[in-house]
Amino acid sequence: MKFATRLVHFNAAPGDPLHPSNTPIYQTATFAQEEADAFGKFDYSRSGNPTRKVLEDQVAALEQGTRGFAFSSGMAAIATVTHLLSAGDEIVADYDLYGGASRLFGKVIGRAGLTVSFVDAQDLAALEAAITPKIKLVYIESPTNPLLRILDIAAISQIAHRHNALVCVDSSVMSPYLQNPLVLGADIALHSGTKFLCGHSDVTAGVIAVQDEKLAQDIYFLQNAEGTALAPFDSYLLLRGLKTLKLRMDAQQASALKVAQFLAAHPRVSEVNYPGLPTHPGYELQKKQATGPGTLLTFRAGSREAAKRIAEQTEYLKIAVSFGSVNSTISIPAAMSHASVPAEHARQIPDDLLRLSLGIEDVDDLLAALNASL
Ligand SMILES: *Cc1c(COP(=O)(O)O)cnc(C)c1O
Repeated sequence: MKFATRLVHFNAAPGDPLHPSNTPIYQTATFAQEEADAFGKFDYSRSGNPTRKVLEDQVAALEQGTRGFAFSSGMAAIATVTHLLSAGDEIVADYDLYGGASRLFGKVIGRAGLTVSFVDAQDLAALEAAITPKIKLVYIESPTNPLLRILDIAAISQIAHRHNALVCVDSSVMSPYLQNPLVLGADIALHSGTKFLCGHSDVTAGVIAVQDEKLAQDIYFLQNAEGTALAPFDSYLLLRGLKTLKLRMDAQQASALKVAQFLAAHPRVSEVNYPGLPTHPGYELQKKQATGPGTLLTFRAGSREAAKRIAEQTEYLKIAVSFGSVNSTISIPAAMSHASVPAEHARQIPDDLLRLSLGIEDVDDLLAALNASL
């Protein structure tokens, strides 16, 4: 089955005798047991819920994994991954991380006795040198956000596995449509479901897919023990959004390329980061490990003031921290999503950098609006 087929062709309600064509919302906390000493398939929704299970199986299939897990947010999924480690273990992460991940790594997990070091994971030798015997997890995003650097997932996975470390790839910027980290050798594919999987800015969610059964059992244990799973209604919304993932991303990606080309040619714009432009340093690697460059791009406006004016005055572009929605959004990462990045990393993000997430509007309207505000 090809990806587009799988998005809509799956068992929507396994075991339901009425065979509904859409997944019902099993809005229940408990499931009555037939016998006092034997559980049925489901007993308590924190431990398992039929709506969530359909979503989790779909996530596993789309990432070419064997098991999927849905959490109440992307951050809940990331926190769960860190809980696979024990006090004294260490993490090495690429320095260009989502602001929330930076905050979790820099300000929270130290309390549990974990330490994190940051490297430029484009530099494979530097990465390998940073992997001491205490390193149990290599944590990366690709493309990185907001700088849109491309990291070599296969090479990084090989290096990590040589040193018995797990590899977690936050693939939110790509979605399972454009990139499958498990196929490239990573152990954990993670997404903020709030972004492309949902696609409509109406739910926060996080998902994880894995291939290894032992790892799956450990993650399931944490999901149940910590109570971080996604609610039935939110699982339903995510399942609904997912069906149009390919249609949405094809349209958004086509617009992103046109907008990137327009910005690259505009005299007011000093730098455009989009892995779909042949001038992007990661262009070839991106073509090798993903099936498309995605729908996010960043560009520099020349000054903080110019960036602020463009963000506030461009018609159709809503100022919002998130991305991946059907609506185009614009943000200033240094002031918004990445404001919580520690100062020693913040210098990496220029304050005149604007991030555009292209939606499904007519691209001619977007180009006209950008042209006017520039
Ligand atoms: C948004 C985002 C997250 C966090 O997800 P939430 O659903 O907001 O908790 C993690 N990683 C990346 C790359 C993101 O863009």
